[in-house]
Amino acid sequence: MKRAWKRYRSLRIEAILSGSLKLSGNMEPELSPNSSAQFLWNRLLDVLRTRVPETAFNTWFSHLTIADYPREKMVVGVPNAFVLEYVEHHYKTVLEKALAEILGSRIPVSFTVTQAPALELFHPVAGEAFETPANPSKPAVTVDATVPLYPDNRFENFVIGDCNQLAHAACMAVAEAPGRNKFNPLILYGGTGLGKTHLLQGIAHFCQENETVRKIVYRTSEEFTREYIQFVQKNKDSRTFYKSYKNADILLIDDIQFLAGKPGTQDEFFNIFSALHSFNRQIVITSDRPPSQIQGLHSRLLSRFDTGFLADLQPPNLETRLAILHKKAARDVDSCVNEDVLAYVASQVTSSVRELEGVLIKISAYANFIHAPITVAIAKEILGDTVRNQHSGLTLKRIIDTAASEFGLSPALLTSQTRKKNIAEPRHIAMYLARQLTDNSLYTIGLAFNRDYSTAIHSIKRVEQLMESDPVYRTRIEKLRANLG
Ligand code: ADP
Ligand code: MG
Repeated sequence: MKRAWKRYRSLRIEAILSGSLKLSGNMEPELSPNSSAQFLWNRLLDVLRTRVPETAFNTWFSHLTIADYPREKMVVGVPNAFVLEYVEHHYKTVLEKALAEILGSRIPVSFTVTQAPALELFHPVAGEAFETPANPSKPAVTVDATVPLYPDNRFENFVIGDCNQLAHAACMAVAEAPGRNKFNPLILYGGTGLGKTHLLQGIAHFCQENETVRKIVYRTSEEFTREYIQFVQKNKDSRTFYKSYKNADILLIDDIQFLAGKPGTQDEFFNIFSALHSFNRQIVITSDRPPSQIQGLHSRLLSRFDTGFLADLQPPNLETRLAILHKKAARDVDSCVNEDVLAYVASQVTSSVRELEGVLIKISAYANFIHAPITVAIAKEILGDTVRNQHSGLTLKRIIDTAASEFGLSPALLTSQTRKKNIAEPRHIAMYLARQLTDNSLYTIGLAFNRDYSTAIHSIKRVEQLMESDPVYRTRIEKLRANLG
């Protein structure tokens, strides 16, 4: 039965492929296997053209090919991983349906990337990568950046403290001898506003001014994604896309966490990363958390990152905060902001350097407005919002310790991976209190509990909901909160 059906199907296929239902005597196809496959493919495209909007057709189908057609299935060739992911997700069913209509029965369609792997594309053509510029007036170093590099983001303007010493030193070493140091790839990670972008751009400025490289490529991972999608939509193939990266001596990628959950883009990034790395080009990446904690990052990228050097940036301590404020005040602010005010700000604004800067700008704007020096009392007023949630001396550690003892647990158990209800519930509460009583970001709070950002949000929401519906629960938390306050 099955054989008969198969036979019938293949007869019908051949009949269609030969352009008529008349079959040759020995029932073999009249066309060669290749040309018959091509014929079928062209028919398929004709049908699809009537099913898919024109722009979509041009974007996604015009560069597909028939890679293999052993009759019981069809393999479609796609130019790159990104197109593969997209077409498979959005058009596989349409393709299979149209094909079934032509063939009279359904066969599975799969996809395969047919283009040369990136590594080959990267092989420098003789003399190409390091040719000397023909025009001597042309700057010796090319900077290819999709955003302007901020001129103030230089090493000279970066204040070094315990919190960022290692990251700074690694960046200096990289900038001085790109690709010829122990830090390749270098990965900088830390919460928002702690100086990652500053250091990354600092490397670019240093390399450009000291001509330690010929070509710098700087991208945020969002731009990388956008740029790549644009290339694909313009029907260009990956080769064109790789071109901007091919001659990079140093590749700087800001905020890699945005590649999470974009497997196609990650594949292309992986190709570029591997190719550049194999030619000893320098790579520096920033992330708002340790790469291992970025959910939705492909394991092969992670294992590449594992071969590199990780340097973290921590929130600055009081001394460093004061040093940063002094530096910024001396550069950007008139003398209206005195020492006491700076000391006060440094003591109150603890979470990030960006926030420190923001407060300083607010204060100096106000000083200009009232044409008078700012006093600590006025600074207090201005800072009202910022420090509302800051209870001096209240650390995440104290919250964890207090919550743990309140529920008869050890701090280690409270922050462990277990999901047992009697431990998870107190953990949610402790996270909620951390959010209420400190100005730590959700990311930092999550980290303190060995959780990621989204788990922190989820836990806190849960507590808020329970507090609304259960007065006893609410009272208990308010008591705990008062103890901490
Ligand atoms: P991130 O990229 O980590 O979110 P940024 O690099 O954008 O943070 O830093 C935020 C702001 O703080 C920038 O204006 C930056 O110049 C400044 N900044 C951060 N760290 C320092 C530092 N150690 N010294 C001086 N300025 C700093
Ligand atoms: Mg940044």
